[in-house]
Amino acid sequence: MVSYKIIKVKTPDFNMDIKRIKGMNDILPDEAIKWRRIEDICRKVFMGFGYNEIRPPVIEKTELFARSIGESTDIVEKEMYTLTTSKGGHITLRPEATASILRAYIENSLYVQNPVQKFFTIGPMFRHERPQKGRYRQFHQVDVELLGTDSPYADIEIISLLDYLLIQLGIKDITIQINSLGCKECRPVFQKSLLNFLQGVNKELCQDCRRRINTNPLRILDCKVPSCKKILINAPVILDDLCKSCNDHFNRVKDGIGALGIAYKVIPGLVRGLDYYTGIAFEAITDNLGAQNAVGGGGRYNGLIRELGGPDLSGIGFALGIERLLLLTENNRGEDGDVLLPLYLIALGEKARELFFNLSQRLARASIPNGFSFLTKSLKAQMKLADRNNARFALIAGEDELSDGLVILRDMQTKFQKQIPIENLFENIKNEIMEAEVI
Ligand code: AMP
Repeated sequence: MVSYKIIKVKTPDFNMDIKRIKGMNDILPDEAIKWRRIEDICRKVFMGFGYNEIRPPVIEKTELFARSIGESTDIVEKEMYTLTTSKGGHITLRPEATASILRAYIENSLYVQNPVQKFFTIGPMFRHERPQKGRYRQFHQVDVELLGTDSPYADIEIISLLDYLLIQLGIKDITIQINSLGCKECRPVFQKSLLNFLQGVNKELCQDCRRRINTNPLRILDCKVPSCKKILINAPVILDDLCKSCNDHFNRVKDGIGALGIAYKVIPGLVRGLDYYTGIAFEAITDNLGAQNAVGGGGRYNGLIRELGGPDLSGIGFALGIERLLLLTENNRGEDGDVLLPLYLIALGEKARELFFNLSQRLARASIPNGFSFLTKSLKAQMKLADRNNARFALIAGEDELSDGLVILRDMQTKFQKQIPIENLFENIKNEIMEAEVI
């Protein structure tokens, strides 16, 4: 793999007035290596659990999100990037992936042959939030959905998958918090007692919570304002109002994940920022991320597939934020080590440049990463480039060497140099690289 080292240099004073949009980041080559590592591990784990990749578009009709996530959620109320089409319709950059995956499942009749389908997707999401560390306006999620079954085994598998993925990613100090949000039978009972409680403490709540009493009272349980948190200690607990079926389901899931050795904590106040959840809801929480302490989360959403115009089938899923995963793995950087470029080609003079450019192309076509300077530079400058590119070997050719039918191979680690005949140069170099086990 090619390694890029971004060197911090004094920026020349160009008059650049078009900059990136606030809250949206460039993922530069040396960062992209870490992204690929995370994505590769995710893909491997998902495939192992039998999940197939799906790639819905990043833009959908606004109504899809309004109907699924909920009109009175923060996301729909104030965080969506919505565009007006030439015909006066509205389309939105996706703030999450579940709704799009369900739409694709329904629209392509994927449930017909086998209602139980397992999907994953990896890609950008967009929310107009106030940017801070771990919170951006374009961010990236890995998202998993298990559709077509309300078996508690599905819940257990999804939480087990989340737990195993975090282990494979090397993320430590995570707590999996779980709760049940009830169903359309028992949730209204709880909502009524919650509303009673909230009306009694109305005046002591923060402005946001006071507004939410009428729009989305459940979300008040998630308020982070210390004075609200203190009041909410005495709020009614949804687990006390669960119907028998929700209670049994919750117990079976807890037993199942316990039997797999997954550590979890029941948090009766855990609610999620999207309206579609029913039954099990969960989050992976860490103390190592400051204010943005959720690495990922998800839950069950029975009823949503039908709500979006599909059959009456259930679903459950979760999403993890890649930026937050990266913040958590930042301290483990040493683990990967610096990625080496196997070979840097240093040509002096036009004849040598022609020879090495051709060699560079042949090596690239044989999947042997290598560097070649497109600018004519001195030996010293090219050696510096080899170094900056973290090259294991430098191959050097000047006029004298060429007339002797030789080039020089320099081991950049040991500084040992040896001569290599130009005859069969490609094979000779390939063998040297294979022997050194650089790739
Ligand atoms: P949610 O869809 O809100 O449950 O978010 C799932 C995960 O996506 C969170 O736990 C975060 O890791 C990540 N996430 C959500 N919003 C953002 C954001 N604005 N910036 C970065 N990551 C985010």
